[in-house]
Amino acid sequence: MNYVVIDLEWNQCPYGKDKENPKLPFEILEIGAVKLNENREIIDTFSETVRPAVYKTLHYRTKEVIGERLEEFKASRPFPEVARDFLTWCGKDYMFCVWGPSDLPELQRNLLFYHIPLPFPKPLLYYDVQKLFSLEKEDGKLRRSLEFAVEYLKIEKNSPFHKAFDDTYYTSLVLQQLNWEDLKTYLSVDYFRPPTTKEEELYLKFKDYSKFVSRVYENRDRMMADRNVTQVRCFVCGRLIRRQLDWFPTSQKQFACMALCPQHGLQKGKIRVKKAPNGNVFAIRTIKIASPEQAEVIKAKNEAYKKRVKKQEAAAAFQANA
Ligand SMILES: [Zn+2]
Repeated sequence: MNYVVIDLEWNQCPYGKDKENPKLPFEILEIGAVKLNENREIIDTFSETVRPAVYKTLHYRTKEVIGERLEEFKASRPFPEVARDFLTWCGKDYMFCVWGPSDLPELQRNLLFYHIPLPFPKPLLYYDVQKLFSLEKEDGKLRRSLEFAVEYLKIEKNSPFHKAFDDTYYTSLVLQQLNWEDLKTYLSVDYFRPPTTKEEELYLKFKDYSKFVSRVYENRDRMMADRNVTQVRCFVCGRLIRRQLDWFPTSQKQFACMALCPQHGLQKGKIRVKKAPNGNVFAIRTIKIASPEQAEVIKAKNEAYKKRVKKQEAAAAFQANA
Protein backbone atom coordinates (compact mmCIF):
# COMPACT_ATOMS: atom_id res chain seq x y z
CA MET A 1 0.00 0.00 0.00
CA ASN A 2 1.18 3.52 -0.85
CA TYR A 3 0.65 6.75 1.03
CA VAL A 4 -0.68 9.75 -0.85
CA VAL A 5 0.11 12.99 0.96
CA ILE A 6 -2.15 15.72 -0.36
CA ASP A 7 -2.63 19.42 0.11
CA LEU A 8 -5.15 21.68 -1.57
CA GLU A 9 -5.30 25.41 -1.96
CA TRP A 10 -8.74 26.93 -2.47
CA ASN A 11 -10.56 30.21 -2.98
CA GLN A 12 -13.81 31.44 -1.47
CA CYS A 13 -16.40 33.97 -2.52
CA PRO A 14 -14.62 37.37 -2.62
CA TYR A 15 -17.91 39.25 -2.07
CA GLY A 16 -18.90 37.72 1.25
CA LYS A 17 -20.65 34.64 2.56
CA ASP A 18 -24.16 35.66 1.45
CA LYS A 19 -23.05 35.78 -2.19
CA GLU A 20 -21.29 32.42 -2.20
CA ASN A 21 -22.50 29.33 -4.02
CA PRO A 22 -23.73 27.16 -1.09
CA LYS A 23 -22.84 24.01 -3.02
CA LEU A 24 -19.23 25.12 -3.34
CA PRO A 25 -18.11 27.52 -0.60
CA PHE A 26 -14.46 26.62 -1.29
CA GLU A 27 -13.28 26.22 -4.87
CA ILE A 28 -10.07 24.23 -5.27
CA LEU A 29 -7.38 26.07 -7.22
CA GLU A 30 -4.43 23.78 -6.71
CA ILE A 31 -3.77 20.11 -5.97
CA GLY A 32 -0.39 19.06 -4.67
CA ALA A 33 0.46 15.46 -3.80
CA VAL A 34 3.40 13.24 -3.01
CA LYS A 35 3.27 9.46 -3.26
CA LEU A 36 5.27 7.38 -0.79
CA ASN A 37 5.75 3.64 -0.81
CA GLU A 38 5.30 1.30 2.17
CA ASN A 39 8.71 2.34 3.49
CA ARG A 40 7.64 5.97 3.25
CA GLU A 41 10.10 6.72 0.45
CA ILE A 42 8.96 9.32 -2.08
CA ILE A 43 8.19 7.60 -5.39
CA ASP A 44 6.14 10.15 -7.34
CA THR A 45 4.67 13.64 -7.23
CA PHE A 46 1.60 15.45 -8.59
CA SER A 47 1.22 19.20 -8.84
CA GLU A 48 -1.30 21.14 -10.88
CA THR A 49 -3.25 24.38 -10.67
CA VAL A 50 -6.93 24.64 -11.58
CA ARG A 51 -8.86 27.19 -13.66
CA PRO A 52 -11.46 28.91 -11.46
CA ALA A 53 -15.05 28.49 -12.69
CA VAL A 54 -17.18 29.69 -9.77
CA TYR A 55 -15.22 32.53 -8.14
CA LYS A 56 -13.30 34.45 -10.80
CA THR A 57 -11.40 36.80 -8.49
CA LEU A 58 -9.40 35.94 -5.40
CA HIS A 59 -10.67 36.48 -1.86
CA TYR A 60 -8.23 38.61 0.12
CA ARG A 61 -7.45 35.69 2.43
CA THR A 62 -6.69 33.46 -0.54
CA LYS A 63 -4.25 36.12 -1.76
CA GLU A 64 -2.63 36.22 1.66
CA VAL A 65 -2.16 32.46 1.67
CA ILE A 66 -1.21 31.69 -1.91
CA GLY A 67 -0.34 35.06 -3.41
CA GLU A 68 -1.45 36.96 -6.52
CA ARG A 69 -1.53 33.99 -8.86
CA LEU A 70 -4.87 34.54 -10.62
CA GLU A 71 -3.31 34.64 -14.10
CA GLU A 72 -1.57 31.34 -13.43
CA PHE A 73 -4.86 29.75 -12.31
CA LYS A 74 -6.77 31.17 -15.31
CA ALA A 75 -4.28 29.53 -17.68
CA SER A 76 -4.84 26.11 -16.07
CA ARG A 77 -7.12 23.20 -16.99
CA PRO A 78 -10.64 23.01 -15.48
CA PHE A 79 -11.18 21.07 -12.24
CA PRO A 80 -12.85 17.94 -13.71
CA GLU A 81 -9.84 17.28 -15.99
CA VAL A 82 -7.26 17.87 -13.28
CA ALA A 83 -9.23 15.86 -10.72
CA ARG A 84 -9.64 12.84 -13.02
CA ASP A 85 -5.92 12.80 -13.76
CA PHE A 86 -5.19 13.16 -10.05
CA LEU A 87 -7.47 10.25 -9.09
CA THR A 88 -5.89 8.05 -11.77
CA TRP A 89 -2.45 9.07 -10.51
CA CYS A 90 -3.41 8.04 -6.94
CA GLY A 91 -3.78 4.44 -8.13
CA LYS A 92 -5.79 1.71 -6.44
CA ASP A 93 -4.10 0.82 -3.16
CA TYR A 94 -3.32 3.90 -1.13
CA MET A 95 -4.12 5.79 2.05
CA PHE A 96 -4.44 9.59 2.15
CA CYS A 97 -2.17 11.52 4.53
CA VAL A 98 -3.13 15.12 5.23
CA TRP A 99 -2.04 17.96 7.50
CA GLY A 100 -5.30 18.46 9.42
CA PRO A 101 -8.85 17.30 8.72
CA SER A 102 -10.07 20.04 6.34
CA ASP A 103 -8.72 19.06 2.90
CA LEU A 104 -10.51 15.75 2.30
CA PRO A 105 -14.06 17.11 2.79
CA GLU A 106 -13.34 19.94 0.33
CA LEU A 107 -11.88 17.52 -2.21
CA GLN A 108 -15.07 15.45 -2.01
CA ARG A 109 -17.35 18.50 -2.15
CA ASN A 110 -15.55 19.75 -5.27
CA LEU A 111 -15.77 16.32 -6.94
CA LEU A 112 -19.51 16.04 -6.22
CA PHE A 113 -20.07 19.61 -7.49
CA TYR A 114 -18.89 18.35 -10.90
CA HIS A 115 -20.82 15.06 -10.54
CA ILE A 116 -17.64 13.04 -10.37
CA PRO A 117 -18.44 9.86 -8.39
CA LEU A 118 -16.35 9.53 -5.23
CA PRO A 119 -13.98 6.60 -5.72
CA PHE A 120 -13.13 6.39 -2.01
CA PRO A 121 -14.10 3.69 0.47
CA LYS A 122 -16.86 4.54 2.91
CA PRO A 123 -16.06 5.39 5.61
CA LEU A 124 -12.89 7.00 4.36
CA LEU A 125 -9.94 6.42 6.68
CA TYR A 126 -6.81 8.53 6.48
CA TYR A 127 -3.77 9.69 8.41
CA ASP A 128 -3.91 13.17 9.91
CA VAL A 129 -0.19 13.97 10.07
CA GLN A 130 -0.86 17.05 12.20
CA LYS A 131 -2.48 14.79 14.81
CA LEU A 132 0.27 12.15 14.52
CA PHE A 133 2.91 14.82 15.10
CA SER A 134 1.06 15.91 18.25
CA LEU A 135 0.67 12.30 19.46
CA GLU A 136 4.39 11.66 19.17
CA LYS A 137 5.92 15.01 20.12
CA GLU A 138 3.29 16.69 22.30
CA ASP A 139 0.10 15.82 24.19
CA GLY A 140 -1.93 14.49 21.28
CA LYS A 141 -4.37 17.38 21.53
CA LEU A 142 -2.36 20.43 20.50
CA ARG A 143 -2.51 21.22 16.80
CA ARG A 144 0.55 22.96 15.33
CA SER A 145 1.21 24.56 11.99
CA LEU A 146 3.19 22.62 9.43
CA GLU A 147 5.90 25.25 9.68
CA PHE A 148 6.18 24.64 13.43
CA ALA A 149 6.65 20.90 12.87
CA VAL A 150 9.27 21.49 10.17
CA GLU A 151 11.25 23.76 12.50
CA TYR A 152 10.80 21.38 15.43
CA LEU A 153 12.21 18.48 13.43
CA LYS A 154 15.00 20.69 12.02
CA ILE A 155 13.98 20.01 8.45
CA GLU A 156 15.71 22.35 6.04
CA LYS A 157 13.34 25.02 4.69
CA ASN A 158 14.13 25.78 1.09
CA SER A 159 10.77 26.62 -0.45
CA PRO A 160 7.85 28.76 0.72
CA PHE A 161 4.90 27.35 2.68
CA HIS A 162 1.33 27.41 1.38
CA LYS A 163 1.93 26.43 -2.14
CA ALA A 164 0.09 23.10 -2.34
CA PHE A 165 3.05 21.12 -3.57
CA ASP A 166 5.58 22.56 -1.11
CA ASP A 167 3.22 21.83 1.78
CA THR A 168 2.78 18.20 0.74
CA TYR A 169 6.52 17.87 0.33
CA TYR A 170 7.16 19.18 3.86
CA THR A 171 4.32 17.02 5.22
CA SER A 172 6.02 13.99 3.63
CA LEU A 173 9.31 14.87 5.30
CA VAL A 174 7.55 15.19 8.67
CA LEU A 175 5.84 11.84 8.07
CA GLN A 176 9.20 10.22 7.32
CA GLN A 177 10.60 11.36 10.66
CA LEU A 178 7.76 10.05 12.82
CA ASN A 179 7.95 6.71 14.57
CA TRP A 180 5.61 4.89 12.22
CA GLU A 181 5.43 1.58 14.10
CA ASP A 182 3.90 3.41 17.07
CA LEU A 183 1.64 5.66 15.07
CA LYS A 184 0.28 3.68 12.17
CA THR A 185 -2.73 2.37 14.08
CA TYR A 186 -3.93 5.96 14.64
CA LEU A 187 -6.18 6.22 11.62
CA SER A 188 -8.54 9.16 11.37
CA VAL A 189 -12.07 8.95 10.01
CA ASP A 190 -13.28 11.44 7.44
CA TYR A 191 -16.85 12.49 8.30
CA PHE A 192 -17.90 14.02 4.97
CA ARG A 193 -20.03 10.93 4.36
CA PRO A 194 -20.89 9.44 7.77
CA PRO A 195 -22.24 5.86 7.93
CA THR A 196 -25.88 5.62 6.84
CA THR A 197 -26.47 1.93 7.55
CA LYS A 198 -25.60 -0.39 10.38
CA GLU A 199 -23.16 -2.21 8.10
CA GLU A 200 -21.21 1.00 7.55
CA GLU A 201 -20.81 1.70 11.24
CA LEU A 202 -17.23 1.64 12.37
CA TYR A 203 -15.37 0.29 15.37
CA LEU A 204 -11.66 1.10 15.74
CA LYS A 205 -9.32 0.11 18.53
CA PHE A 206 -6.21 2.12 19.30
CA LYS A 207 -3.47 1.70 21.87
CA ASP A 208 -5.31 3.57 24.62
CA TYR A 209 -8.90 4.04 23.47
CA SER A 210 -11.60 2.62 21.25
CA LYS A 211 -13.77 4.57 18.85
CA PHE A 212 -17.22 3.81 17.47
CA VAL A 213 -18.85 5.83 14.69
CA SER A 214 -22.61 5.31 14.49
CA ARG A 215 -24.93 5.62 11.53
CA VAL A 216 -26.96 8.81 11.16
CA TYR A 217 -30.18 9.53 13.09
CA GLU A 218 -32.93 12.12 12.61
CA ASN A 219 -32.07 13.84 15.87
CA ARG A 220 -30.12 13.59 19.11
CA ASP A 221 -32.92 11.97 21.12
CA ARG A 222 -33.40 9.18 18.57
CA MET A 223 -29.67 8.62 18.58
CA MET A 224 -29.37 8.44 22.37
CA ALA A 225 -32.35 6.06 22.53
CA ASP A 226 -30.48 3.44 20.50
CA ARG A 227 -28.72 0.89 22.69
CA ASN A 228 -26.25 0.36 19.93
CA VAL A 229 -25.02 3.89 20.59
CA THR A 230 -25.18 3.86 24.39
CA GLN A 231 -23.80 0.41 25.16
CA VAL A 232 -20.28 0.26 26.54
CA ARG A 233 -17.81 -2.48 25.80
CA CYS A 234 -14.71 -2.89 27.92
CA PHE A 235 -11.77 -1.28 26.15
CA VAL A 236 -9.57 -4.27 27.01
CA CYS A 237 -11.71 -7.42 26.73
CA GLY A 238 -14.58 -6.15 24.59
CA ARG A 239 -17.22 -7.48 26.99
CA LEU A 240 -20.44 -5.45 27.46
CA ILE A 241 -20.03 -3.74 30.82
CA ARG A 242 -22.39 -2.07 33.27
CA ARG A 243 -22.61 1.71 33.46
CA GLN A 244 -22.05 3.03 36.98
CA LEU A 245 -22.94 6.52 35.83
CA ASP A 246 -25.30 6.51 32.90
CA TRP A 247 -24.79 8.87 29.96
CA PHE A 248 -25.42 12.48 30.93
CA PRO A 249 -24.90 15.65 28.85
CA THR A 250 -21.75 17.65 29.57
CA SER A 251 -22.59 20.19 26.84
CA GLN A 252 -24.97 20.58 23.90
CA LYS A 253 -22.80 18.33 21.82
CA GLN A 254 -21.33 15.91 24.33
CA PHE A 255 -22.25 13.14 26.77
CA ALA A 256 -20.16 11.32 29.35
CA CYS A 257 -20.54 8.08 31.28
CA MET A 258 -18.54 5.78 33.51
CA ALA A 259 -18.61 1.99 33.38
CA LEU A 260 -16.91 -0.81 35.24
CA CYS A 261 -15.39 -4.03 33.94
CA PRO A 262 -15.00 -6.46 36.86
CA GLN A 263 -11.68 -7.52 35.38
CA HIS A 264 -10.26 -4.33 33.89
CA GLY A 265 -11.64 -1.61 36.10
CA LEU A 266 -13.23 1.80 35.59
CA GLN A 267 -13.57 3.22 32.11
CA LYS A 268 -14.88 6.52 30.88
CA GLY A 269 -17.06 7.00 27.88
CA LYS A 270 -17.63 10.05 25.73
CA ILE A 271 -20.19 10.56 23.00
CA ARG A 272 -19.74 13.47 20.66
CA VAL A 273 -22.84 14.47 18.72
CA LYS A 274 -21.77 15.33 15.17
CA LYS A 275 -23.88 16.99 12.49
CA ALA A 276 -24.16 15.19 9.18
CA PRO A 277 -24.33 17.39 6.04
CA ASN A 278 -28.12 16.89 5.62
CA GLY A 279 -29.05 17.98 9.15
CA ASN A 280 -28.97 14.47 10.63
CA VAL A 281 -26.71 13.62 13.53
CA PHE A 282 -24.40 10.74 14.32
CA ALA A 283 -22.35 9.67 17.34
CA ILE A 284 -18.64 9.30 17.87
CA ARG A 285 -18.23 7.25 21.02
CA THR A 286 -14.85 6.75 22.65
CA ILE A 287 -14.04 4.50 25.60
CA LYS A 288 -10.83 4.57 27.63
CA ILE A 289 -9.54 3.42 31.00
CA ALA A 290 -10.21 6.04 33.69
CA SER A 291 -7.58 6.86 36.30
CA PRO A 292 -8.96 7.43 39.85
CA GLU A 293 -8.51 11.21 39.35
CA GLN A 294 -10.39 11.13 36.05
CA ALA A 295 -13.16 9.10 37.67
CA GLU A 296 -13.49 11.83 40.35
CA VAL A 297 -13.77 14.52 37.68
CA ILE A 298 -16.60 12.65 35.96
CA LYS A 299 -18.38 12.07 39.26
CA ALA A 300 -18.18 15.79 40.04
CA LYS A 301 -19.54 16.68 36.60
CA ASN A 302 -22.38 14.22 37.12
CA GLU A 303 -23.22 15.77 40.53
CA ALA A 304 -23.29 19.23 38.95
CA TYR A 305 -25.56 17.94 36.20
CA LYS A 306 -27.97 16.36 38.70
CA LYS A 307 -28.11 19.62 40.66
CA ARG A 308 -28.93 21.54 37.49
CA VAL A 309 -31.76 19.14 36.65
CA LYS A 310 -33.18 19.38 40.19
CA LYS A 311 -33.14 23.16 40.03
CA GLN A 312 -34.91 23.14 36.68
CA GLU A 313 -37.53 20.72 38.01
CA ALA A 314 -38.11 22.86 41.08
CA ALA A 315 -38.48 25.98 38.92
CA ALA A 316 -40.97 24.19 36.66
CA ALA A 317 -43.00 22.97 39.67
CA PHE A 318 -43.01 26.49 41.10
CA GLN A 319 -44.31 27.92 37.83
CA ALA A 320 -46.99 25.24 37.59
CA ASN A 321 -48.22 26.14 41.09
CA ALA A 322 -48.10 29.89 40.61
ZN1 LIG B 1 -12.71 -6.08 30.53
